Amino acid sequence: MAAAVLTLNAGSSSIKFSLLELADADQFEFVAKGEIEEIESGAPHFSAVDAQGARLAERKWTRPTGFDELLGAVIQWTEDHLGDNKLTAVGHRVVHGGPKHDRPERVTAELLAELEALTPLAPLHEPHSLAPIRAILAARPTLPQVACFDTAFHRTMPTVATRFALPRQYEAQGVRRYGFHGLSYEYIAGRLRALAPRLAAGRVIAGHLGNGASLCAMQAGRSVDTTMGFTALDGLVMGTRCGAIDPGVVLYLQQQCGLCAHDVEDLLYRRSGLLGVSGITSDMRTLQTSPDPRAREAIDLFVYRIVREIGGLMNCLGGLDGLVFTAGIGEHSPDVRAMVCAKLQWLGVALDPEANQSNTLKISHKSSRIEVWAIPTDEEAMIARHTCDTVGATAPAF
Ligand code: ADP
Repeated sequence: MAAAVLTLNAGSSSIKFSLLELADADQFEFVAKGEIEEIESGAPHFSAVDAQGARLAERKWTRPTGFDELLGAVIQWTEDHLGDNKLTAVGHRVVHGGPKHDRPERVTAELLAELEALTPLAPLHEPHSLAPIRAILAARPTLPQVACFDTAFHRTMPTVATRFALPRQYEAQGVRRYGFHGLSYEYIAGRLRALAPRLAAGRVIAGHLGNGASLCAMQAGRSVDTTMGFTALDGLVMGTRCGAIDPGVVLYLQQQCGLCAHDVEDLLYRRSGLLGVSGITSDMRTLQTSPDPRAREAIDLFVYRIVREIGGLMNCLGGLDGLVFTAGIGEHSPDVRAMVCAKLQWLGVALDPEANQSNTLKISHKSSRIEVWAIPTDEEAMIARHTCDTVGATAPAF
């Protein structure tokens, strides 16, 4: 019987899930994906589609419904959908693994308690990651669960890259740079090993450019630095997040503008970035077709900051052999990729315009000194693979 893994990615207002089956011991088959949206609105909405996008299920609740009940509905639907095939394990995307956890781990009551103690490091995200683990542990104690940490891939960063110039006592409390999007970068490193082994052994900067956005400098497939830091707020301009900002601005907002800590959090996480600068939307596709000059200015700033950070990361790597674009914008926007690469022309970066336009894997021109790739990421496949590995089911290499 094929191993079947449910992956869960829980946020403040949604639970996203994917169901994958291990077919023929060498490949995951994507069976279904879905989500429960509008959890906080009091009228949650469950939907699931198959690999071709055809609707498999839909359900609406008309009353406020507890998280545990909603999660129970996902598990129940998954088991019904699997029929005779049993669910092997559940793999969770856990935002923060703290300073210790450098690989996926089987969930136990002890691990859960340890992760709960990390909540002060990521108060906005960690509780959402842990809620489904706790609920499943209570309702299905024998169902194996695996926690896959978004920070783990960056545990190879040297101390000089993780340290803030703050008094040591804060570092001892865990105030340091961790980096995020690790499951995506780990997947990309694996794909690159399969697609371009020579390049994968070299110096590569990968850009996960979606609603959240970051860059990761990899040496032989290991993270040496990344643009996100203590939180997922640092680094690049994002859909609604400001990215790197002079900490003095935060003081100004509080001391001169009268914003409380909660207002500042809302401003920096949800009202800044592409949305804040354009005043229109956080959605890159919409910005690219907007005639409003502020839309163009927002895109220009997004690109400028990517290029500026690439310069810094290139120095950390001591040079550059390849660039990889991934996630919503990285995979689907030839214009953004072309804008970034045009600014790196001095370095010998040259795109093949046709390949770039068609979003094919290798998009650099054969004359380019630096290889440029657009590779679709798959965090769910990465979680499923880790989950199989951790619980001992056979998992495929990429
Ligand atoms: P998340 O970080 O929430 O997973 P995604 O990786 O799906 O987000 O990225 C969402 C972003 O990708 C949005 O800004 C969206 O407009 C952008 N995007 C998706 N498709 C395209 C496209 N064809 N051209 C430009 N931007 C795109």
